[in-house]
Amino acid sequence: MTSEANSIDLTQPQGPVLVVGGAGYIGSHCVALLQRRGVEVAVFDDLSTGHAEAISAPLVVGSLGDREAIAAALEAHRPSAVIHFAAKCYVGESVTDPAIYYRENVHYTWNLLEEMRAASVSDIVFSSTCATYGEPREVPIPDDHPQDPINPYGRTKLHMEHMMRDYSRAYGMRYAALRYFNAAGAATAGGIGEDHSPETHLIPLVLEVALGQREKIMVFGDDYETRDGTCIRDYIHVDDLGDAHLRALAHLQAGRGDLECHLGTGNGFTVMEIIEAAREITGQAIPAEVVARREGDPAMLVAGGSRAFDVLGWRPARGDVRDVIRDAWAFHSAHPSGYAAG
Ligand code: UDP
Repeated sequence: MTSEANSIDLTQPQGPVLVVGGAGYIGSHCVALLQRRGVEVAVFDDLSTGHAEAISAPLVVGSLGDREAIAAALEAHRPSAVIHFAAKCYVGESVTDPAIYYRENVHYTWNLLEEMRAASVSDIVFSSTCATYGEPREVPIPDDHPQDPINPYGRTKLHMEHMMRDYSRAYGMRYAALRYFNAAGAATAGGIGEDHSPETHLIPLVLEVALGQREKIMVFGDDYETRDGTCIRDYIHVDDLGDAHLRALAHLQAGRGDLECHLGTGNGFTVMEIIEAAREITGQAIPAEVVARREGDPAMLVAGGSRAFDVLGWRPARGDVRDVIRDAWAFHSAHPSGYAAG
């Protein structure tokens, strides 16, 4: 069968593009990729968690809570499309303080959509999450798995998806909702990477232990029904995520319809396997201690299905988790204090 994706060059979206949340971890990698493909980019970011040092594109420092600031950025940069990464993304915080998540993920996205509508910008690609699926009923998880999130973070992301769908039907907005599995790694070209505060993600924490910044890595439970008892996740390279966003945008621009799909490699690794791979790559001992399970962690989250493969012709280029850890290590060892140290 000839893939539909072959008939058009989906690696080349048309600009200019406004990247909202473009100074953050995934956003900054997407900005760098767009620039490498010659697309004109501007970034809108409140720098609450992002880093100006992570981008070399025009930056509008503003909040999505400020409709006038959004309108001014759209007026100044006249984008033909928006890629929207700005969101709160800590599950635990969303449970203890859901108001922040409903305000910043749902209300602020509504602000953005309204200003896009006013400025006649119809195309949007945005970050969703496999957390919208909730407790998986089957693994690998298909793209059309029922969406039944189990925490406020996942619920706000699902609200965002529903908003886009309704705006598409009613106002002709064109959208791609990309549901990520575990974003990890750092730009293969170097220079940018992951710098969260606080850091909660497994791979950067493991590498902080390798750097001697933490004494040991806590393994959250080893009594799951998996091959070594620790949780299995699908770690996807951040450059591969960026590539999928560019393809999704080109897909919308080609008039090929809205898209909802997830982005994962289809390969799952246990926590212990990640730690072991990091030991090999860094040459450090990386002490680990098994502690209690973390609340809300499903045993296994791995992408199945192939909508992004079929529709976008997308394949993870860095699909081996060792490559993901190697690139992350290159960034962390060169920037042991993140962007703060320059
Ligand atoms: N994890 C762990 N110790 C840590 C951080 C994470 O054992 O200090 C485990 C976590 O329980 C999960 C996996 O590593 O099974 C990936 O967690 P992460 O927070 O990176 O991403 P999540 O899957 O929660 O989005």
